[in-house]
Amino acid sequence: MSEDSVFATDRLQEGTIDDLLAGSVRLVQGAVAAALVPRASTKSPVVWADLVHADVATGLSSLAAKALADNGPWGENVAETWTGWVEPIPSGESGTSPDGELAGVLALALRDRGSLTEHERSTVALLARLCGKTTSASASTGALTRQRRLDDLVSTISERLMSTTGPTLESALDWAVERLAQFLGSDVAFLRRNDRARNVSVLMAFYPPLGMPIEENPLGVVPFDADPIFAATKDLKVPLVVRNAADTDERYLQRVKDAGWSEEFTGAAVPLVHGDTTEGVLAFVYLSTYTWSEQEVNALRAIAALLVQLLLRVDAEDRLRRSALTDDLTGLPNRRALLDEVTKLQDGGHKLALLFIDLDRFKVMNDHLGHGAGDKVLQVIADRIRTSLRPSDFAARLGGDEFVVILNDVDGGLGAVSAASRLLDLIALPIEVRGQRVAHTGSVGIALSEDAEAATGEELLGRADIALYSAKSQGRNRTVVFDHQLEGQHAERSSIELLLRQALADNSLRVLYQPEFDLCDGRLLAVEALVRWHRPGQGLVEAAQFVPVAEETHLITDIDRWVLEEACAQLARWRRAYPGTELVMRVNMSAAQLAVAGLVRSVSDSLRRSGLPPQLLCLEITEQAVIADVEQAVRVLRDIRSMGVKLAIDDFGTGFSSMSQLKTLPVDVLKIDRVFVDGVAHDPTDQAIVETIVRLARAFKLEVVGEGIETIEDLQTLVQLGCRRAQGYLLSRPLAPADLEPLLMRGAIDLTSLAAVTTG
Ligand code: C2E
Ligand code: MG
Ligand code: MG
Repeated sequence: MSEDSVFATDRLQEGTIDDLLAGSVRLVQGAVAAALVPRASTKSPVVWADLVHADVATGLSSLAAKALADNGPWGENVAETWTGWVEPIPSGESGTSPDGELAGVLALALRDRGSLTEHERSTVALLARLCGKTTSASASTGALTRQRRLDDLVSTISERLMSTTGPTLESALDWAVERLAQFLGSDVAFLRRNDRARNVSVLMAFYPPLGMPIEENPLGVVPFDADPIFAATKDLKVPLVVRNAADTDERYLQRVKDAGWSEEFTGAAVPLVHGDTTEGVLAFVYLSTYTWSEQEVNALRAIAALLVQLLLRVDAEDRLRRSALTDDLTGLPNRRALLDEVTKLQDGGHKLALLFIDLDRFKVMNDHLGHGAGDKVLQVIADRIRTSLRPSDFAARLGGDEFVVILNDVDGGLGAVSAASRLLDLIALPIEVRGQRVAHTGSVGIALSEDAEAATGEELLGRADIALYSAKSQGRNRTVVFDHQLEGQHAERSSIELLLRQALADNSLRVLYQPEFDLCDGRLLAVEALVRWHRPGQGLVEAAQFVPVAEETHLITDIDRWVLEEACAQLARWRRAYPGTELVMRVNMSAAQLAVAGLVRSVSDSLRRSGLPPQLLCLEITEQAVIADVEQAVRVLRDIRSMGVKLAIDDFGTGFSSMSQLKTLPVDVLKIDRVFVDGVAHDPTDQAIVETIVRLARAFKLEVVGEGIETIEDLQTLVQLGCRRAQGYLLSRPLAPADLEPLLMRGAIDLTSLAAVTTG
């Protein structure tokens, strides 16, 4: 037996496993690693390897474990880049019962050589028997004291780790690693975490304290493929002991030197294993040689198990917290996260701008192309917003098509507005969904925190929302900055909403009737029912003042139903009072009516109750309502028309897209919007538009009515352009039923006197 083997066996009497393994490697030429896998589950497997060959550790330990489980095969075992030698460890002091139960398995990894010589085989067999003795050797008294201290340490550490949470994680890990390092007398100790997604190993705790941010540390974030040592830690399953050898990987040595360590050292690592996955590694480095006792290895395994539990628990808590603060669809922070951020920034004394972004007419697209397509659009837009921001800014999705961006330390309102317009440009870029290119405009409401001392996140959001509302009602695709006048308007809107609910209940709605005449002979042809509200303290309020609010708050459905009933009843009364009148009653229907069920029903109910011939009722629907969902609109309109009721498109010309759809719409009348009629006498563009509409109407055999005539010139121009019917203040204001009686009696107005009054 060589001198080396004597040395090894001497040391073995002291009960140190890794010395024995180190000895096996040294005694067998070409051996680069040794693994000991004891049968007893209370004992830990250990791998000893030359630094440069650490990559075989996992393979070698599983080879040994497999042989133990399968009771062989023993001897040579060829693996991919190395050859294994597996030796059974007989149980019992005598070590002579190879047929009895084994105490474990000793395995060697050989590189660049074939079978063992006869002499080497007997050396390995001897070493295996010694291993058997070592693993079953009873502890000495000194070892017992140390064991007690070790148990104490493990329980102290586990107590603290068990009560650790995310915010205290870092300090708890530092503390645990320090305590262990001091107990085990190691010069350096660290905990690393495997980040499989990035294929790197990340430093979590280090002893002695580094005083250097992880990003700047050469050992902070290291790719697994940087060198064989890091490669070995990726899937390490059993404790590994390494000692640097002359041929240690240069890249590793360089890294170690960069970190300021000496080149002479021993390292030992315990993997953090969860299921089949290695989550990290707890490692200790000695700048001289050192050997662990088996008890120490077992204690470290217990602590590694605790650490892996802790890390996974903190991860799960983190994920939960993140998902409570993240929007699932886009991955952006959600409303709660946004409010937290505002509070944080305001506490830090930052001046903020809150940009409340809403996509225009998103619902229409969503209904039209389907929700999958809608989701895709939202994700693309979320990405565009996210990637366009400065690192100090913050973006969130509140839900639906609403996004909020916080601009940090923004340069007043102007800075915010120009940022908003950049965002709107990005949003407007076309998106490809289901083979279609869709484009969206957006509207933005901005609230600034600088002039709103101590406004909470909720308040700022509310202000941005008010500004957004104003942007929408100004025609969308624009940005509005909040000011206190807007707040006044908003308060007004809220009060309208509140009072209007009451109005329906306490009978304070009225209907006025605006006549429509034949422009050539002055005959009264129809009246339009226009709702009015007797608002407490304010007299009769025009529809334009409260219908938009009623539409937003869905009160309009009830209002419309009430107006319809009232108007039908009124016309029936007039027909009884003035038999023979063929007056048509026009009633406005909000866009919302086309979407809710029951419109057809309430129309037929009102007709039945009033006994009105259906062709004397004409429902006015705005072009916008039809565009919103053409198919649905066409379905409802067909049903209504099949009852004999007439249909008019109101405010025609304001949404030109439906011109082409006119063919498909079951309508009888087009009402030219006031904006084209007012001043048509002097505006060539308006003339061209009116002329087009008139021609179109003729082609589709529809009646045309001009709305909002205020001057005799406009009236004359309309007639010249071929529009024979009109309503407007020039002809008559909307009137209460009693005030309309004289006109009903005469059946017409005197157009010549009208011309005389206005021109004279
Ligand atoms: P509209 O259907 O286009 O009604 C015409 C509006 O123009 C009425 O305003 C009328 O008073 C006004 N008007 C008529 N002639 C002139 C004129 O020569 N000059 C000017 N400047 N204005 C004129 P009103 O009553 O305030 O109604 C506004 C809008 O509210 C209506 O526009 C209609 O869309 C809606 N609306 C009115 N009543 C109802 C209703 O019962 N239900 C629903 N859903 N909407 C209604
Ligand atoms: Mg109308
Ligand atoms: Mg109109």
